[in-house]
Amino acid sequence: MTLDVPTLFVVVTAVTLLMSFWICLMAWGQPRGHELWPLALSLVAYASSNVLFSLRQLLPEIVAVAAGNLAYSGSLSLMLVAIRRFQRGPVGRWQVTLPIVLVFVLLSPLMPSEEASSVSINILCAGQMVLLLSALYDRRYPIEGRGRIILFSTYSGMTGVLLLRAYAVYSGLIGVGTAAGGARWLALVFVLAMCAVLSIALGFVYMTMERAERLNYEMAMKDMLTGLANRRAISEDLAHAVARAQRHGALLSVLLIDIDHFKRVNDDYGHPAGDAVLRSVAQALRERLRAQDLVGRFGGEEFLVVLPDTGLEGALVLAEALRGDVERTPAPWGAHHIAVTISVGVRGGRVGGADTRESLVAAADAAMYRAKEGGRNRVEHTAAGILTEVRTAIQAG
Ligand code: GH3
Ligand code: MG
Ligand code: MG
Repeated sequence: MTLDVPTLFVVVTAVTLLMSFWICLMAWGQPRGHELWPLALSLVAYASSNVLFSLRQLLPEIVAVAAGNLAYSGSLSLMLVAIRRFQRGPVGRWQVTLPIVLVFVLLSPLMPSEEASSVSINILCAGQMVLLLSALYDRRYPIEGRGRIILFSTYSGMTGVLLLRAYAVYSGLIGVGTAAGGARWLALVFVLAMCAVLSIALGFVYMTMERAERLNYEMAMKDMLTGLANRRAISEDLAHAVARAQRHGALLSVLLIDIDHFKRVNDDYGHPAGDAVLRSVAQALRERLRAQDLVGRFGGEEFLVVLPDTGLEGALVLAEALRGDVERTPAPWGAHHIAVTISVGVRGGRVGGADTRESLVAAADAAMYRAKEGGRNRVEHTAAGILTEVRTAIQAG
């Protein structure tokens, strides 16, 4: 198989520019700070570096080489900007500009030979790859998902190729300049470059899509005010927990929590203060619950807690602890500390074959109603007799 170098050059450049165009189209309508803009620019810079290197015969050699290397190093810096923007993290100004300045120094007459320039520029670009890799794994701004794996593999491969090239020039295996290794080497470089361009574009698109998916999921399943699961999510969790408890004959308890006289908080301090109280109660619940427990905002000022593998006794102890926590933790609001209490209805014990999530919630609701009746700021549970009544009432519609 022979790979025609001029054809490969045209294909790589055209594919890179086309990718850049599609990425611009994706970024269209996004703010200027969006990560896809520097990515598109980075691909344009890379395509320019190819074109500039190929103009060695037409332009004065030093101009073509310097401009080509600057464009290449610039494309890596722009990629770093893209990753940092994706992470909503600060862009290290020196990490972006210093490599470009160093390209000037490494091409200057200060360097002892052309070989030394070429070796050190390859090592410099490998260093830029390492910056990209460490940005991808920066724990302060974690990136999740498969997009990061694609980018990690690509940048690692490119680091290897750059270091190999530096070694090959250093040991005299190939000469200086892009074409120095002969047509085969150049063909290989272009094929690898095309793989890299496609992988990088795909990796970024993946990362952006995965983030959008995560956001959509959060918006569908999370309560934006408290950060807890919303009614839909906690109801689904409860349905799974009921099915599991029925399969294994396991214990399952449910707490329905309602803030007492919450309307007064809104009336006395205003709606935003009410929101602060809701957040504070949610935080108190989150802090007390164990990892396997599930909690969600079930309604305006109602919360539902699902306790797998927990019997009535355990649920009552936990409910009492939660009640005490909320009572002792007033929500700070300006100069005030707004204290609220909760009434808790507990449905605990084993789950029968006829039980459903609705019957469990209704049982907890009945107990919560009794807690309100009994003077609020207290815990009540549904006795077995009431449970049967509730179930019959639900079945009767
Ligand atoms: P009780 O002790 O009987 O539960 O009395 P309550 O005042 O808590 O009960 P009620 O159901 O009368 O009032 C609930 C209030 O919760 C009414 C509603 O305006 C308020 N509310 C519901 N959702 C929100 C919210 O997201 N933010 C704020 N600030 N208030 C909310
Ligand atoms: Mg209520
Ligand atoms: Mg209430």
